[in-house]
Amino acid sequence: MQADKIIGILGAIPQEVNGIITQLKNRSEHKIGNRTYYQGYINDQKVVVVYSRIGKVAAAATVATLLLEFKVDSIAFIGVAGGIHADVKVGDVVVAKNLVQYDMDASPLRPKFEIPLLGKTYFDTDESWSKETCDHIEEMFGLENLYQLITPSELAKFNITTPKVHYGTIASGDQFFSTSTQKNNLKAQLPEVLCVEMEGAAVAQVCYEFGVPFIVIRTISDNANEEASFSFQSFVEEVSLVYGQEIINKMF
Ligand code: SAH
Repeated sequence: MQADKIIGILGAIPQEVNGIITQLKNRSEHKIGNRTYYQGYINDQKVVVVYSRIGKVAAAATVATLLLEFKVDSIAFIGVAGGIHADVKVGDVVVAKNLVQYDMDASPLRPKFEIPLLGKTYFDTDESWSKETCDHIEEMFGLENLYQLITPSELAKFNITTPKVHYGTIASGDQFFSTSTQKNNLKAQLPEVLCVEMEGAAVAQVCYEFGVPFIVIRTISDNANEEASFSFQSFVEEVSLVYGQEIINKMF
């Protein structure tokens, strides 16, 4: 990343970005439209960090503000998600290759999932930035490194042994997945999807329309089924915060 550029770092909930905000150097705060934007530096990189709150509308409004008010040059979304694909386990990280809004449906006027008047279904992330991020996460998952961040007993609470990084499709929509029916429906319609969350594809659409490079990084907090609410709550407090801090530190 180039030091003269500004990077917007976005999460949905405080736990996803608080660890990053506390590390900012020369930090200043700005309140706009019910959000607090934190400007500052991570190493020599100028960044603006914010949590958007949950859902596609909240995320889209926050990204537009980052672009128009703070003039950021690129966007990194960091957060948690529910695992959909059988290979994706709690504690793994998914870096998006592309994103789709699974709840967009203007059929029969347009094919299901296509964004009307844009003629697009999948939004691509920045390939080289995403792949670089996958490499950083692989490094973090080297067992020595991982145990320095989180103790083996803490990891064992979530059955995390050797977490993996995946690169592929993320689906977003305004639903928290907490039943196998929701999960199986999505799998049947979009079999390539690795995980589900509530903001990424909205961030992706806004960045696409403004022509700005972006990445989306999601740690798997739950299996998007009946146990999701329990797993989600404890995971964000205990694991994802630490991962998030480390991933961002490695980026700059
Ligand atoms: N604890 C919050 C609700 C969290 S909603 C409250 O009480 O208000 C879940 C958040 O994590 C969303 O931002 C979403 O992007 C992500 N997420 C994690 N697991 C998910 C799942 N199973 N389904 C959908 N989104 C999920």
